[in-house]
Amino acid sequence: MSLTQFGPVYSGRASAVRAGEVVLSLVASGLVGMRGWAGVRRLQQPYDRSLQLGLDRLAALCVRAGRDAPVGVQDLVGVWCAQRPVDSWPLEFDPDAQVSGERLLIGGEPSEFCLEWAVTARDVVSEVHESVLVKHVKDTAALLGRPELYARWRLFVTDHAVLGPDEFLAAKNAVLDVPQWATWLEESYGAVTAEAAAGGRVAVCGGCGQWIAPQADGRVRCKVWRCVQRHDLPEPARVEAQGARRLEPELVRFVALPGRPEVDLARRLAARGARVVLYPKLDALDLVAVWPGGHSVGVDVKDWHSPYLLARRIKMFPRWGADDPHAYRKGYLVVPQDRVRANRRYVKILVQRSEALKAQPWVEVVSDDDLVASCPDLGTAGAGEVVCGP
Ligand SMILES: [Zn+2]
Repeated sequence: MSLTQFGPVYSGRASAVRAGEVVLSLVASGLVGMRGWAGVRRLQQPYDRSLQLGLDRLAALCVRAGRDAPVGVQDLVGVWCAQRPVDSWPLEFDPDAQVSGERLLIGGEPSEFCLEWAVTARDVVSEVHESVLVKHVKDTAALLGRPELYARWRLFVTDHAVLGPDEFLAAKNAVLDVPQWATWLEESYGAVTAEAAAGGRVAVCGGCGQWIAPQADGRVRCKVWRCVQRHDLPEPARVEAQGARRLEPELVRFVALPGRPEVDLARRLAARGARVVLYPKLDALDLVAVWPGGHSVGVDVKDWHSPYLLARRIKMFPRWGADDPHAYRKGYLVVPQDRVRANRRYVKILVQRSEALKAQPWVEVVSDDDLVASCPDLGTAGAGEVVCGP
């Protein structure tokens, strides 16, 4: 068997690191593609192509390293991914990638580490753009000259996972001068199907606020990584399923879950008296805030486990003239406090690895808690509010 059939021959450390990252990305995205597999479906669906590609490349690197290779997809998934940390694989990684002790599958589910490497494999500019509906709403709001409606729609779907019949009707009629608004909501929310409900009720997670489909045994367990990790997760709320609507799964994934830390940060700043504009200029930034006293900040919130992977996805912050209604003086890339606490090298790796951060030294990386603490606290005496337009 010729090794060259598995792709280019890598030489040198940079190439070896690149080869290791390609294997990891392929296997991770294959595992994510397999998620939900069970029983009969397993026979109907072939193995994800990227899993097979990852297996081939990993096997070639094992042979070269004189190590035993996985003997097939079952071995790769059931033993290598489920039992062995990635640093025990015969691959080279950059120390900043922090792969030590990380496994791709935990309890049969892709780990957060796995999910982020899978996203990297797709090589997309932004997860948000993967939703056709998000793009449609954004384009329509731009055409109408009403960019604030896009922000308002994002805020609404982030805040509402399940709507009763009356709430849904009220939501559709919330913007009467723009008939498209009702259509956006129709397309954002689907009927609660029998599979999504248990005992006539649909469960809403007390952690992330999203609806949860019951498992085959009827148990309700949120699969969102943060919720899985929590030991103090509140019991889910139960909402009457009859006539109710639930947020479409693609919007849960691409809008509501990533939007949660953005909206929470906006509300914490507003509670201290800041005036916060969400998603200005069709999402050019997550928020622009004017603090009590007049200081203005532009903020992007990023909730990633791996600073090494996040570094590749940081964008350039837009600069707007002083007469622009969204003008701001200082830029912040905000990461949740628990990320920084769990990984003391987090900010250092992010700053050293990001070309975008090096190119704009006026953008600072801070934790959400530190940003909130640096905003003067006027409480209810301030003019604090969260708005969707200038
Ligand atoms: Zn949850």
